[in-house]
Order: sequence, then C-alpha cells, then structure tokens
Amino acid sequence: MSNSIKTFNLREGAFPIKMDLMLEDIDLQDIGRLKDSIRGDIVISLISKDLFHCEGSINTVFVDKCQSCLNDIEVNLNLSTNLVIKDEKLMMDDGSSQDQTHYQDLEYFDIKQLIQEEVALNYPNIVKCEEKCLEIKPIKKEEKNFPFKKIRDLID
Ligand SMILES: [Zn+2]
Repeated sequence: MSNSIKTFNLREGAFPIKMDLMLEDIDLQDIGRLKDSIRGDIVISLISKDLFHCEGSINTVFVDKCQSCLNDIEVNLNLSTNLVIKDEKLMMDDGSSQDQTHYQDLEYFDIKQLIQEEVALNYPNIVKCEEKCLEIKPIKKEEKNFPFKKIRDLID
C-alpha cells in the first residue's frame, strides 16, 4: 500500500487541485477484479464556499465473468467525470442525494472514495462477452415451427 492516498482538507486547498492518481485496489463488492490500476486524472475547482467542481477522467480495466457463458472477459471503464462536490452535512438540505453531486466530509476529503463511487455508478449491470452470448432462443424456435401462429392468434 505504498501508493495509498491520504485524505486532505478541501477547505484549505489551493485551487485548482490537479491530481494524477494510480489506485492499485478498490473496496467495491460484486464487481470484477482489477486488471490494471485505476488511473484518475482529476481537477477540483472551487466554485463557492461550499461548492466544488470535479472534472476529469477515470480509466481502468476489470476482469469479470460473462453472465451467460462464465468466461473471463475484460470490462473497460473509461469515464468522464463531471461532478459537483458538497459537504456531506448539506446532503440533508438537498433532500435525497442528487445525481452528479458527490457528498463527503470536506475536511477529510478522500479522492479514492469519489473515484470508487464513480466506478460503482458506471460499472455495467450486465456483463457479457457479446450482446447475444448464449442467448436462449426457445421463443424464436417456436416462431419458426409455427410460422402462422401470430396470424392464428389474430383470427382467434
Ligand atoms: Zn459469454
């Protein structure tokens, strides 16, 4: 963990804060395992006292299993990040947490947490080696065997 990233105080930063990051591990469940480190190219700007803007890119490759054939496949994530950052204390005022807003304790800001959240939000729900991998086709087969079924249904 020599590359572990420490938290920093966003309230005392000199802006813009530019970061070139390499994350070697990730604390997310139910997704593939990292093939490469996660590369993050992040710029945080100050908009107003309680409002920050985060822009950049997050790139990584996971190895996951195709949900149909269970073969290992690579999942490439190339994300453009464009977020507003607010203190987590403001989350209640905003009502339900907003899209495109990342809430965190600004005095102990952890960029890894932001990157992980972005990866979790953008990780595909369905992982398949190809669109139609082992797609079960009983319905199509049935249609072939009964080419007039639809017409009969209409008549009935
Ligand atoms: Zn497959």
